[in-house]
Amino acid sequence: MAEAVYQQLCNVLAKRGGLYPGRDIPEFFALVEELFTPEEAEIYVAIPRGFHPAADIARNAGKDGDSAAAILETMADKGLCNAGKMGGVSYYSAPMFVPGIFEYQFMRGTRTDRDRTLARLIHDYKRALDAGRETPRETYPLTRVIPVDRTVAAGNTVHTYHQVATYIEKYSPISVSTCFCRHEARLLDENDHCGAPDDVCMQFGMGAQFVIDRNMGRKVSREEAMAVLDKAEDAGLVHTAINRQEIDFVCNCCACHCMILKKTLAHPRPGVVLNSGFQPRHDKDLCIACGVCIDRCPTEALAMGEDEVPTVDLDRCIGCGVCATGCEVEAVTLVERPGVIPPPVDQAALRAAMKASHAQ
Ligand code: SF4
Ligand code: SF4
Repeated sequence: MAEAVYQQLCNVLAKRGGLYPGRDIPEFFALVEELFTPEEAEIYVAIPRGFHPAADIARNAGKDGDSAAAILETMADKGLCNAGKMGGVSYYSAPMFVPGIFEYQFMRGTRTDRDRTLARLIHDYKRALDAGRETPRETYPLTRVIPVDRTVAAGNTVHTYHQVATYIEKYSPISVSTCFCRHEARLLDENDHCGAPDDVCMQFGMGAQFVIDRNMGRKVSREEAMAVLDKAEDAGLVHTAINRQEIDFVCNCCACHCMILKKTLAHPRPGVVLNSGFQPRHDKDLCIACGVCIDRCPTEALAMGEDEVPTVDLDRCIGCGVCATGCEVEAVTLVERPGVIPPPVDQAALRAAMKASHAQ
């Protein structure tokens, strides 16, 4: 029975998609057997897309409501399903591996033996999938970059979805948790740390409530959230989020550990597969040719030009604005990148856009 249900889990996670979907290889089964008990796997595959009450999921799984509800609660604590309350009723949904289940495993920042085992199994699974991949096609991106707020040129048309600060103003509650990627690296090798701050990943609204309820992060005030944002920007971290206008998380990423940025940088044209819709503009009258922006750029998109002003390679530029925050003389601003369409409004629109681009 266990073998069959893990195979079903593989098929369902393959359909869920994301950066590391389910795949029928030994590393997948080694990982899910550590993550899910057979009963939990059975419940996961019975969760339809979207949020549903335990009674509906129990019916799909052929279980009684109380035992399904108890399993779902344990799964939510383990980060194997999402959970939230509406009108006093608990609803559950089945997340992808990434973004979703993988991140939940390490957001608490704990360092138990099981954390280390999971880190190794997740690492092995990602490596196995990456090894079998060809250079990805330029399809519609699941994630996007949000530019550093304070770098956008005055007078630009800046929509709210371009600003993390606007999300901080808009959503409640807000939570902060440990960066999954940097923590995973540390669990694998205690010395693997780039010095970037760990507690900078943010969740918003229902996503934040889930993280707070399940002790995966801490609730923060708007002021604390702004301080976290400032800390991330000072450290030269890139804001990434799901590629839709309504978001539930913002990661603050380094190019050395973030799985989204690392995958993007493996592409020959990172600026085409992931960007914010902005690009830097250098003011030649202000620039003193110090080269700091070139050093800070996480995608190696900048080079010093013949006239001693940096030039940008738009095939590599993701529009993060990290170059601008490092410029002491404020010679860099972000301007809109022509031809970039606004992000989809919601998850259904994002799914449709991704499906359409994969079909081409
Ligand atoms: S950091 Fe500023 S001053 Fe230095 S090279 Fe870049 S744009 Fe010029
Ligand atoms: S040049 Fe580099 S640092 Fe500047 S916006 Fe582009 S990717 Fe970011």
